[in-house]
Amino acid sequence: MAKPKITPMMAQYNEIKAQYPDAFLFYRLGDFYELFNDDAVVGSQLLELTLTQRNKNSADPIPMAGVPHHAAQNYIDILVDKGYKVAVVEQVENPAEAEGMVKREVVQLVTPGTRMKTSADAAKENNYLVGLSVAPLDCYGLAYTDLSTGEIKVTSLQGLNSVLNEISRLETKEVVTSDELPNDLQASLTTLGILVSKTKSQDETHAEIAYLTQQLQQTTPKAAANTLLQYLFDTQKRSLDHLQQATAYEVAQYLKMDRHSRANLELTVNLRTQQRSGTLLWLLDETKTAMGGRTLKQWLEQPLLDANILNQRYDKIGELVKEFFGRSALQEALQSVYDLERLAGRIAYGTANGRDLLQLRRSLQQVPEILSILDDLDPAIFGELRINLDPVSDIEVLIGEAITDEPPISVTDGGVIRTGYHEQLDKYRDVMTNGKTWLAELEAHERQATGINSLKIGFNKVFGYYIEVTKANIAKLDADRYTRKQTLVNAERFITPELKEREQMILEAESKSSELEYQLFTSVRQTIKENIQRIQTLAAHLAQLDVLQALATVAERYHFVRPILTDEDVIDIQSGRHPVVEKVLGHQEYVANNVEMQADDTILLITGPNMSGKSTYMRQLALIVVMAQIGSFVPATAATLPIFDQIFTRIGAADDLISGNSTFMVEMAEANTALQNATKHSLILFDELGRGTATYDGMALAQAIIEYVHEHTHAKTLFSTHYHELTALADELPELQNVHVGANEQDGELIFSHKVLSGPADQSYGINVAKLAGLPSSLITRAADILSHLEEQDVSLKTAPMIKTALADESVDLSVDEITQPAMAPVVKPATGDEGQLDLFALSESIDPQT
Ligand code: ADP
Repeated sequence: MAKPKITPMMAQYNEIKAQYPDAFLFYRLGDFYELFNDDAVVGSQLLELTLTQRNKNSADPIPMAGVPHHAAQNYIDILVDKGYKVAVVEQVENPAEAEGMVKREVVQLVTPGTRMKTSADAAKENNYLVGLSVAPLDCYGLAYTDLSTGEIKVTSLQGLNSVLNEISRLETKEVVTSDELPNDLQASLTTLGILVSKTKSQDETHAEIAYLTQQLQQTTPKAAANTLLQYLFDTQKRSLDHLQQATAYEVAQYLKMDRHSRANLELTVNLRTQQRSGTLLWLLDETKTAMGGRTLKQWLEQPLLDANILNQRYDKIGELVKEFFGRSALQEALQSVYDLERLAGRIAYGTANGRDLLQLRRSLQQVPEILSILDDLDPAIFGELRINLDPVSDIEVLIGEAITDEPPISVTDGGVIRTGYHEQLDKYRDVMTNGKTWLAELEAHERQATGINSLKIGFNKVFGYYIEVTKANIAKLDADRYTRKQTLVNAERFITPELKEREQMILEAESKSSELEYQLFTSVRQTIKENIQRIQTLAAHLAQLDVLQALATVAERYHFVRPILTDEDVIDIQSGRHPVVEKVLGHQEYVANNVEMQADDTILLITGPNMSGKSTYMRQLALIVVMAQIGSFVPATAATLPIFDQIFTRIGAADDLISGNSTFMVEMAEANTALQNATKHSLILFDELGRGTATYDGMALAQAIIEYVHEHTHAKTLFSTHYHELTALADELPELQNVHVGANEQDGELIFSHKVLSGPADQSYGINVAKLAGLPSSLITRAADILSHLEEQDVSLKTAPMIKTALADESVDLSVDEITQPAMAPVVKPATGDEGQLDLFALSESIDPQT
């Protein structure tokens, strides 16, 4: 049977689709975008569209689904949000002029990493697209950009883990590469739900790419930037003049935190809800602009190591805390500043409309006010920023002169350009609005000049405007001035050059004026585009000011203090607080605690009952460090801190325990990362390390890890544990201090003081906590029985002597025989009615032996 003949349209469709096999093709047909074949089948499900068929009655009908073109953006957003790409196909020639099929082309490829969200909730987030290049010896180049703001950053990385850390810091949704990625990297990216886009390697002759990457020296990161940019030009198919020259950075310039630590500390994402609420960012974000919001987030993601820059930030925050009026005036001015970075992006992109330019103008109008606020602040502190703040007033003036106060959304229908801006446009408008008046005036003028009172001006379609004179009066006309056009029975019709000129204007006025307006608008936009760098620089300065005022605001509101950075390895925090827990509990409820570690203190071993505040205490220190290293004041009454190079955390969420072995594996892997990479200048937080495995294992590993840090790493380490036995290590390890979180038993109830005190805790209170948690009272009684049984038998764990000693003295036997096996308490069936609800035997296995 002959294959059914394919229509020219479907042939065109197939040809385009073949170039974009991994994208949904939105094929423009009249007022719809149509999806065909598999795109239609899958798309109709994802988008809840009706699936129909083209050529229903043929032997080979084609599945089809359509979306109205005016609603297309929503549908595109849904697909891209789900991690797909959408290729938008439009007619690219006028159907009237087309021979045969109207030519169609992909005008834009929308992908997860290149889409520009416009919704308000996306304003304070960047959407980063990452380019990767692969070099030998596990080296990688990484480049990233946010297409809506135009920044491009480039770095080189060593090892898969650093790549994954950087990618997760950026919360990337799409990675583009022209190299073959190693399998494990590819697999990790897939697991993280990141789309990997393959692109051809870059076009060497691309002048814009060459310009944008000219500052880059190293080849591997440069290759990543080239790939990234090539992909952007390929997908966007339009001007990208707002892209800024790529600059190189090194991860070593910043406080390093791996992705688990970032997540554990809840800097920007709440672990439980995956939202912003309850995070450090949420607490600090008193920014007034979207740019400020994004900048604050970037600061939190890359805390600094440079004491000079940090001290300058402290100076500025201190000044803004002191100058309350200046700060509130600054807030008010910033409140009226729109998202300049993204406006600049839309201007370059050619999608900015009259309203966008008005937003730009309103934003620029705030700058003189901001300059005068800065004038009133300490010039030693704000002088430099003040001098560098270019108000870009020429652009403000230009927009003021050119754009009306209430421009429409459309830029092609007129009403955008202000009267008085352009002579020709004014004439058009004059003609349009005053056309009749002008004709009446001309008529009066002609009557007077010729003395013919019956002279009149008329219009017909064939000749246009004319001057009509009755035959009786013809003689009075000056023949040279008038050209005869038409002869009627009683009258003659004439034209004059003046009338024709005006006629042309009247006829053209309507069509030409909106066309001219569009031209004028685009030329205004072009002028602004030529000044985009100035606008971007201004945006960066305003964003920074916004972050500083936000940090000053929270510093004052929550009684934060300026930290003192020291070169010595000393931590001295007086009355420190966990800022987020404090905010939730209230300042009165929160119990402040000191952290005091001298240069020769390496480990704080923290004991105390569950729920007493051990992990809060540890997180509190980490957050104070992060805050200090973004340049913020910190929640304490006084704080002296070294600059840390890295933070490692192993802080288990409660539900980690559920998944058993694999959790323990994660726990050990995270511990390993810390032990392998930490330096003397790092901060390590280990929360209940070892609890994911059997008691002996866990305690043995915990002790060995503590010893390792103590002997080799010397990183400042906070180690919380429920193995009370470990507190004995203080006798052997001079750099280890015991602290505990206080709790008292009162009438069988546990009262937490949340106060961190020196020395080890005396009890673990596990049973009391179980009681607090509401376990059946018969069970609690039973547990208490088992405990006293164990205590009677003196079943206990002991720490092993240190290996150093062990090697010196062969007589010390390190075998498990050292440690007495705890005897199982006899099982007694409870006589109460709640038997069968809980397996007490299983429970007794998991109860920790007590000292
Ligand atoms: P642990 O790690 O010892 O099990 P957490 O640090 O998780 O305990 O703290 C348990 C709860 O105690 C926290 O959710 C918080 O509400 C409260 N808490 C902890 N530290 C303090 C503090 N310093 N002041 C007041 N309440 C606190």
